[in-house]
Amino acid sequence: MSIRPDTSVQYLKGIGPKRAARLAKLGIRTVEDLLFHLPVRYIDRSNPQPVSAVKIGEETTLITRVQGTNVRRTRKGPLVQVLAGDSSGQITAVWFNRPDLQGTFKPGETLLLSGQVTFYNQPQMVNPFFERLDENPDFFKSPIFAVYPLTEGLGTWEVRRAVARALDDLEGMTETLPRHILDKYEFPDILAALRAVHRPQRMTDVNRGLSRLRYEELFFFEILVGFRRNALEYAAGGQALEVEGSLTEGFLSNLPFQLTGDQKKAIEEITADLSVPRPMHRLLQGDVGSGKTVVALHAMLCAVQSGRQAAMMAPTEILAEQHFAGWQGILAETGARALLLTGSLKGREKEENRKRIAKGAVDMIFGTHALIEENVEFGDLALVVVDEQHRFGVLQRAALSAKGEVTPHVLVMSATPIPRTITLSYYGDLDVSVIKEKPAGRAERTTKLAYDSRSAGVYRWLAERIERGERAYVVCPLIEESEKLEVSSAKETFEELKTFIKPSRMALIHGRMKADQRSLAMQRFRSGEIQVLVSTTVIEVGVDVPQATIMIIRHPERFGLAQLHQLRGRIGRGPRPSRCVLLLPSGLSPQARERLKVFAATEDGFKLAEEDLRVRGPGQIMGTRQHGLPDLRIADLLRDRNTLEAARDDAFSILSEDPRLSGYPRIATTVRRRHSESLRMLGVA
Ligand code: ADP
Ligand code: MG
Repeated sequence: MSIRPDTSVQYLKGIGPKRAARLAKLGIRTVEDLLFHLPVRYIDRSNPQPVSAVKIGEETTLITRVQGTNVRRTRKGPLVQVLAGDSSGQITAVWFNRPDLQGTFKPGETLLLSGQVTFYNQPQMVNPFFERLDENPDFFKSPIFAVYPLTEGLGTWEVRRAVARALDDLEGMTETLPRHILDKYEFPDILAALRAVHRPQRMTDVNRGLSRLRYEELFFFEILVGFRRNALEYAAGGQALEVEGSLTEGFLSNLPFQLTGDQKKAIEEITADLSVPRPMHRLLQGDVGSGKTVVALHAMLCAVQSGRQAAMMAPTEILAEQHFAGWQGILAETGARALLLTGSLKGREKEENRKRIAKGAVDMIFGTHALIEENVEFGDLALVVVDEQHRFGVLQRAALSAKGEVTPHVLVMSATPIPRTITLSYYGDLDVSVIKEKPAGRAERTTKLAYDSRSAGVYRWLAERIERGERAYVVCPLIEESEKLEVSSAKETFEELKTFIKPSRMALIHGRMKADQRSLAMQRFRSGEIQVLVSTTVIEVGVDVPQATIMIIRHPERFGLAQLHQLRGRIGRGPRPSRCVLLLPSGLSPQARERLKVFAATEDGFKLAEEDLRVRGPGQIMGTRQHGLPDLRIADLLRDRNTLEAARDDAFSILSEDPRLSGYPRIATTVRRRHSESLRMLGVA
């Protein structure tokens, strides 16, 4: 059969169903996927070195003959040793933890070794990359030679052969980028680029090929973002709201504080959007504690004074309750009727609330995912607010919007501070308002590291502070596999703390508690009746008790930095200085400790998010998949920032001139072939 880009890899000679299944683990299903699976490094053997010329400490590649082999038993398992050399000298190669290599090297065979040279009696290489050249005569065909990331049960040779076959037999792989773009950047065409990265003649070929492929990945990514934006812009409806009126005026004049300049600006931007008959799609971004809620409430009141409804969806019940309860006083004075809808409301009350929402007997609805359940209907929904939007998928956001008869205005809020270029590339379909300024009157917050082995000292210090009337969170380790374990570790911490602090001053709070018990505990903490809240990560987002000044986090190494920053954001919200203590377990790796040190020294959420982005990739941080966008495999949002911006400009300018891509069949077919899943999720299939 002919090999086409969308042919399944299992039809490549030498692959078959078993190996295809292994490739699928790397996300490789089609021939095109395989061709975009790029080498991790290259071995340049254009000028092979004699063994005698190796330098200790350098990376080098040698072609040697095996002279002898040996296996030593060690406590950690067998150690495979090979004595190899050429006419000029000798070198030892050793492999730890590779029992599979025992007895496989034969004296006399030709062996390529590549790795760093160390010294132990004589030059040696530890766990070098190797190739058995007698078995792979193809090797000599190419001066530079690609090494692929491996997966269990798939050798680099197997991948290389499959790639070679695909490159040789490929039919119908037509150019994917428009001519003007190829010309603009002097990119090689698609096949030349693929050949250059998989079978280069010179290392400079690799770079030329790579820059095109990176650009290409980002370009199609941005085409998807652009599609999503267009889908929103062309969405029907949208109705203007009354942005000036007695409710918003009353609300603003009753606030117990002065709005910051950034808050005012965000309010202006939002009211400008709301006052025209086109649905708003705005992202309100601001570091933890910057005061986004009040801006959102103002927008909601615009809907109410237009005689319509507004809903705010939060990712946790605690947060929904807080929005509802915390602002009830001020909202009540405006005359707006507010109500709470969460999963744990009792049957009758829930039913009652649902009826009131449907009849339009309430104006402002606060809730959780419960808001998007099928049986929830709104009388007249004009504005949707999604708090901590990174906790929701694109589908959930859409589900809430779909509750409006006419497309409602949408405001999404996020505290994950993402570098601007990247925000634009992910949320290119949203307008962005940013709150940078912190509200006035916030005292300093410091973060310190301490060792778990010294926890008694930390807890004694905590007890002293509690004695003086301060309030604290003690956050228990994140245990991703099991909420149950997480809860039991929180209980343990609670028991441990009893030796230091009177139990009557503490409460435990976690995700498996009944909702009313949990809100009671929150309530008591808020009022100061208790002073220590021992909690799991349920308090991660949004919880707002300005009097809390201490946070102790156990096993901070289990959290991402952005997540730790969110947690830490629970303190430092009031006029008293506050302190966060990270309790490190013993045996933490130097890298992990370094990362936490950086965290302790940095208050800038943007910097931390970048660091996270670098270490963990964007998918983890922003839920790429949930946003309907594919994971990036070749390009890197941080490293390739400039390329990203170029790709975005190019993609958007094509789409603004030709939204359906009718004049760009290459782009259109490529997107459909490569990103059918994203297209479906984005609802533009
Ligand atoms: P976030 O942006 O993290 O959602 P919140 O909206 O919860 O932050 O606000 C954090 C705290 O700051 C709340 O207690 C809120 O009432 C208070 N706050 C908001 N704006 C101001 C302001 N301009 N001045 C003083 N306090 C403010
Ligand atoms: Mg918030």
